[in-house]
Amino acid sequence: MEKTISAYKVHIETFGCQMNEYDTEVVRSLLKAKGFVFTEDRECADVILMNTCAIREHAHNKVYGHLADLKALKRQRKLVVGVLGCMAQNLKEEVTVTAPIVDVLVGPDSYRQLPDLLTRAIASQRTGDVAKGIAVDLSEYETYQDIMPERAAGVTAWIAIMRGCDNFCTFCVVPYTRGRERSRDPQGIIREAEHLAAQGYKQITLLGQNVNSYRFEDWDFARLITGVADVPGIKRVRFTSPHPKDFPPALLDAMAGHTHICKHIHLPLQAGNDRVLKLMGRTYSRKGYLDLVEVIRRRSANIALTTDIICGFCTETEEEFLDTYRAVQDVGYHAAFIFKYSERKNTIAARKYQDDVSERIKSDRVTRLVDLQKAISLQKNRSMIGQTVQVLVEGDAKRSSDQWMGRTDNNITVVWEKCGTGTRPGDFTPIKISRVSATTLLGEEIPIR
Ligand code: SAM
Ligand code: SF4
Repeated sequence: MEKTISAYKVHIETFGCQMNEYDTEVVRSLLKAKGFVFTEDRECADVILMNTCAIREHAHNKVYGHLADLKALKRQRKLVVGVLGCMAQNLKEEVTVTAPIVDVLVGPDSYRQLPDLLTRAIASQRTGDVAKGIAVDLSEYETYQDIMPERAAGVTAWIAIMRGCDNFCTFCVVPYTRGRERSRDPQGIIREAEHLAAQGYKQITLLGQNVNSYRFEDWDFARLITGVADVPGIKRVRFTSPHPKDFPPALLDAMAGHTHICKHIHLPLQAGNDRVLKLMGRTYSRKGYLDLVEVIRRRSANIALTTDIICGFCTETEEEFLDTYRAVQDVGYHAAFIFKYSERKNTIAARKYQDDVSERIKSDRVTRLVDLQKAISLQKNRSMIGQTVQVLVEGDAKRSSDQWMGRTDNNITVVWEKCGTGTRPGDFTPIKISRVSATTLLGEEIPIR
């Protein structure tokens, strides 16, 4: 007897950023509505989907590595393989030619077509056909506004408030893989937040490639984040990422005035040298960025700043890199994601500039910056020893189920021993910090009398 769709088990692997994690939740919702079921175990899956990232070479190679594994699996049994997300969009010819085992290829704006394409791929495997299902058109309107993402139970959730990006930073593939910028209707976002609160979620992170440019009729980002922070039951709201070129004072007012909006800003610097920033198309200067940091800190002295930096962009000299190094010293970030420049197909930099900084120099610059950032983070964390911080308990620590893990309002990870106090995920618990590393605060729970 032939299997019905509900007997086909789907396994999804997600690569890349939080936006991709969110998209996987949208995909799960779309597939569940059509009767598909899911499995965490790829060994017993009939359909394996990879939601991919194209942002750097490394992410791209990882997906090719997984596709090679699946080739072996597909020789042993019937299996439908799908590539979703940014690689599907940007590398459609390459993926279908170099990885003929891929049956279905679906870009970030075409997930609504996925259930039908999978159903057809399953049917064609039954009949021995090899027809491929490809849907990679970009849309100016798709926001999945009506889809309630299928989330794993927990206390923290993401909501995408916009999709795409119009900035065209010269190094970045996002405008080509995710298309034009579009904002979601705020009422739908607030309804999603209310739904999350009713399910017991305590924290929401609002996602967009440039949240400052959120616009829907007369709603801007400051109004939206305040609306989400006002939802009863939601105790913490975070956001990522704002672009330094247009950080609105109204957002700082909202952050200073609302206790539910977390005191943390991820403010990507990318480079601390004006010529390199210009070449990257970032449209702010080193001084403009540092002035903004000062304004932010004057408004909220206890705010934590984190950033993204790219080392070894086209033609970056040692002196120019040292400007970035000094900017990192000057700002004193709580944490930084530091990347080697990775040339991406179709981008302005790939078309116009030469990727002429050697791998050795790129790696050396990354190492020096990572070492600097570690020392700064350690120093900041050491200053917390002896203090008591309010932590949202997220769940078991990664290393041991005898420990809890949570985060401060500033987004710093805290780990402590479980001590039979009845603490649960979703609780807000005071923790006295006793030891630290560059990435984590360790402490003891203070019993609430
Ligand atoms: N929209 C965010 C912004 O404007 O900062 C960035 C989103 S991007 C998904 C995340 C980070 O990846 C960027 O901030 C940048 O540091 C890094 N990135 C993007 N393209 C890159 C490339 N070609 N090579 C290395 N790192 C890259
Ligand atoms: Fe990429 Fe720039 Fe858009 Fe960020 S703002 S997603 S770096 S193009």
